[in-house]
Amino acid sequence: MAIPVTPFAQECRILAHQETSDAVVVDPGGDAQVIIGALEQQGLKLKAILLTHGHLDHVGGTRALLDKFPEVKVYGPHRDDEFLLTTLAQQAAMFGIENSGSFECEYVGDNEVLKLFPDASFKVLHTPGHTPGGVCFYCEEENFVLVGDTLFPGSIGRTDFPRGNFADLENSIKTRLYTLPESTDVMCGHMGDTTIGQEKSSNPYVRG
Ligand SMILES: [Zn+2]
Ligand SMILES: [Zn+2]
Repeated sequence: MAIPVTPFAQECRILAHQETSDAVVVDPGGDAQVIIGALEQQGLKLKAILLTHGHLDHVGGTRALLDKFPEVKVYGPHRDDEFLLTTLAQQAAMFGIENSGSFECEYVGDNEVLKLFPDASFKVLHTPGHTPGGVCFYCEEENFVLVGDTLFPGSIGRTDFPRGNFADLENSIKTRLYTLPESTDVMCGHMGDTTIGQEKSSNPYVRG
C-alpha cells in the first residue's frame, strides 16, 4: 500500500505479511499520524522501518513513528548519507517541510540481506548518485524493488542536490537495477511504479 506523504507526495509504503500481520514501513517522510492510522486500521504490527536515503521527504516521520513504536528498528540508508541525517533541521528549512526529530538507525551495507519476514528478505543494493548513501531494497521472493529517488517511470533522480552525481547515478541504474529480471516491479519514491523491463527499453535518461 502506498500513502503519499509530505507536500512532495513522497510515496511511503506499508508492506504487510498477510498471515502474521507484521508490517514494514518504507520511507516515512512525514504525516506520521496518517501512517500510524493506516497501520492501526488494518491491525498491523510494525516491525521495521526501511530508509532508502537521507532526504527529509523520505525520513521526516521516522522520529514520530519511533515515539509511537519504540521497539521498531530502522534499517538504512548507507552510512554515506549520514551527513543528511545529521542536518535534518537544515533540510526542513530548505524543503519547507516538517521534521519530527533525529533518530538512531542501523546503516546498511551493499549486498546485506535483511530477513524481515519469514518468507521474504530484502537485499541492499547501494545505488549512489541521487545521494551518496542511497540504497534500493530488492525482494526477490516477491519480485519487486524499492528504489527511493534513484529511478522513476520515464525519469531518474535529481543529481543537483548536495553530493549528487549523474555518472554515479547512471552507473547505479545500469549495473544494479537494469541487471534485475525485467519483470521486477519497481516501487518509486514519487510518480508511481514501473518495471525494470519498461525502463530499460524506454527510459530517456538511462538506456538499458
Ligand atoms: Zn531524494
Ligand atoms: Zn524524494
